[in-house]
Amino acid sequence: MARQFVLEGASVEAVVEILPYSSGLARNISQCLEDFDIPIHYSSTVINIKGRKRVEAVTVAQVNRNRKPVPGTERDIECDTLLLSAGLIPENELSKQAGVELSRITKGAVVDDTLQTSVSGIFSCGNVLHVHDLVDHVTLESESAGRNAALWVQGGLPDTPRSACIPVSDGDGVQGVVPQYIRRTGEDELVPLMFRPRQPYKRCTVCIDLDGTTAVRKKFLVLAPGEMSRVSIKRSLLAKAGSVTVRVEVQV
Ligand SMILES: Cc1cc2nc3c(=O)[nH]c(=O)nc-3n(C[C@H](O)[C@H](O)[C@H](O)COP(=O)(O)OP(=O)(O)OC[C@H]3O[C@@H](n4cnc5c(N)ncnc54)[C@H](O)[C@@H]3O)c2cc1C
Repeated sequence: MARQFVLEGASVEAVVEILPYSSGLARNISQCLEDFDIPIHYSSTVINIKGRKRVEAVTVAQVNRNRKPVPGTERDIECDTLLLSAGLIPENELSKQAGVELSRITKGAVVDDTLQTSVSGIFSCGNVLHVHDLVDHVTLESESAGRNAALWVQGGLPDTPRSACIPVSDGDGVQGVVPQYIRRTGEDELVPLMFRPRQPYKRCTVCIDLDGTTAVRKKFLVLAPGEMSRVSIKRSLLAKAGSVTVRVEVQV
């Protein structure tokens, strides 16, 4: 939006980000802010809006680790517009109407590895399941959901109760792993797990633990909260597992 404002002829004074890092894509910071000389102020927030009939200025302050404004750091930026970025969550009205169980973390449906929701015959994929940064992942997910829905209609995908599935949970440094359940038996030998890191990491290892024992390790040069990441586990490893946890291990 900052870049679009510049392209439309406006002058953008600053982007103010409360986190100490960008929660967006690195290429967006580069192509939308740096390329247009738009400053981004991290660990900062707008604490006051000035003006009676319309915006005349905003007061920006730095925040501490608890995201609380630090007294003495306030400064005014003259402007006539304040644009608020509120983030994205899945549009889940249809899921709610259908009685599908929703995740408190992703705000989308809770699914198993076939992308079937808690309601038999309803499958979920794309941004209605969890917010994606890249449409390529959406395509893969939608192909899988479509294939499984077709199988289900033909009677080739028996319903597996959640109690017979292995629960998948978020471990250290990870949030919103999808799917949240894995069937012990299935058509695909590799089960992909999608997640976002809780914070930026450099040179780290993503581990998949089965009942507390690490079964899969994958090294990443960079993990960023704005970018969805993916690890896979062989279904054959899951035969006797009671729980699956995905976590980030920082190399020292
Ligand atoms: C600002 C922004 C920039 C992005 N830039 C990129 C990029 O550069 N490259 C990239 O790969 N990805 C990008 N993405 C991500 C990508 O756009 C999404 O991940 C992808 O579009 C999600 O696809 P989807 O089909 O799940 O959802 P959507 O593309 O949102 O499609 C869902 C459709 O369903 C319709 N709909 C909703 N409710 C109903 C209903 N009740 N009945 C019928 N229809 C309904 C909606 O109107 C919409 O058309 C960007 C996303 C955003 C928000």
